[in-house]
Amino acid sequence: MNRQRRLLLQALAATGLLGRLPQAQATCACSEAGRVVIIGGGFAGATCAKYLRYLNPQIEVILIEPKRDYYTCPFSNLVLAGMRTLPSLRQRYTALSKNYGIQVIHARVTAIEADVRLLQVNNEAWLPYDRLVVAPGISMLWNAPAGYDETAAEYMPHAWAAGPQTRLLRDQLQAMPDNGVVAISVPPRPFRCPPGPYERACLIGHYLKQHKPRAKLLMLDANETFSKQDVFEEAWSVLYPDMIERVGVSGYGGVTRVDARSNTLFTETDRYKVDVANVIPSQQAGQIAVQSGLADDSGWCPIDPSTFKSTLLPDIHVLGDACIADPIPKSATAANSQAKFAALVIAAELAEETPPLPSLHNTCYSIAAPDYAFSVTGMYALESGAIKANARAAAVSPLAAGNDLRKTEYRYAQGWYDSIIRDSFG
Ligand code: FAD
Repeated sequence: MNRQRRLLLQALAATGLLGRLPQAQATCACSEAGRVVIIGGGFAGATCAKYLRYLNPQIEVILIEPKRDYYTCPFSNLVLAGMRTLPSLRQRYTALSKNYGIQVIHARVTAIEADVRLLQVNNEAWLPYDRLVVAPGISMLWNAPAGYDETAAEYMPHAWAAGPQTRLLRDQLQAMPDNGVVAISVPPRPFRCPPGPYERACLIGHYLKQHKPRAKLLMLDANETFSKQDVFEEAWSVLYPDMIERVGVSGYGGVTRVDARSNTLFTETDRYKVDVANVIPSQQAGQIAVQSGLADDSGWCPIDPSTFKSTLLPDIHVLGDACIADPIPKSATAANSQAKFAALVIAAELAEETPPLPSLHNTCYSIAAPDYAFSVTGMYALESGAIKANARAAAVSPLAAGNDLRKTEYRYAQGWYDSIIRDSFG
């Protein structure tokens, strides 16, 4: 322990602020194998915590997550379609603490002092660590588009974090007039779940087709192209003809400003007053990562792809949506895959062994209607110091695939959800 750190720990102990966390010992390392603290109990953080304990049960693992109930974004578009309930997406942390001995603290990390390997919880107690994993997901960039802030989100839900926002958007869809117009505003990339807005268009389309067949859905998109575009467009024309219209950036589809009180969206050339406005704002890494200096000017966190360690602060791994892992998309599968790799690296380094090289993957199913799904898959490895997609392992479901394949992929999508939940939280 360096001198600066020892002095700081002594000073904090004297103030009584070092021991106020009921579940965790104040001093570090309690275990000879080391203490790893993980910020964020989403797909990245929960998976990393579990796999660290799998790899070495001697490592003390503390998971800090404010929510007792975590609602998964994956499958939250199905709630809008009436194909799933919100409670069915709820995850808790009891299995992680009971089965794996992970210390789960329901609190918010409010500061990180990387130089002395300390973090602050709830603006109060300080906790020392040997290794830190930061996996806080995303934060919304308010006022991008202009006028879209936390208050506006109560009128024009983003529903880009599952929970009350999902419920609000679903309720608005149910309450809108039968011949109403729904708009989805898509921000410029990068954002969480690149195919997510287009899956949402399908599933809102499914709801409208069942309950309000005279309604229309308008996508105002700040991008020209998008993930699985051909297969999505085929699904729109097969399942929702004349219902879904998309305006890309070349048609001035990017929303620049909103007026939440009048449900109006403004692009460079037009103004759209709609019945339901689902505004997905621009995003950046979770707030704690940005305020601690883990993010660069892009708002996302650069990492060394051979370890997923921050290139800006020492001994901190950044995982999941918060990190820059291009070309790997920001998805739950990718977060889960990165988390297992980081657990291998941390366990190896704490044991003074050589860590492995990364081998990562992503699979993302999109559901367009009951019995109709398709997917994209990618495998990734390190090449000349950067993450590269393996061209031979990249696949998107084919066009004109026929009902059997779409139905099979719909079944696979349910299997994917059940298994990633078990793998990350079970
Ligand atoms: P998160 O899941 O957001 O978890 C981060 C956690 O950190 C949160 O629980 C938060 O409370 C906590 N946290 C934040 N700040 C702090 C702090 N200061 N202290 C302590 N804790 C903190 N991906 C797929 O693979 N397949 C899909 O089908 C899919 N569908 C999607 C559909 C939608 C509509 C959306 C929006 C996303 C979808 N995704 C999907 C993407 C997926 O949800 C994300 O990529 C995934 O949740 C990222 O995991 P994460 O752990 O990085 O972040």
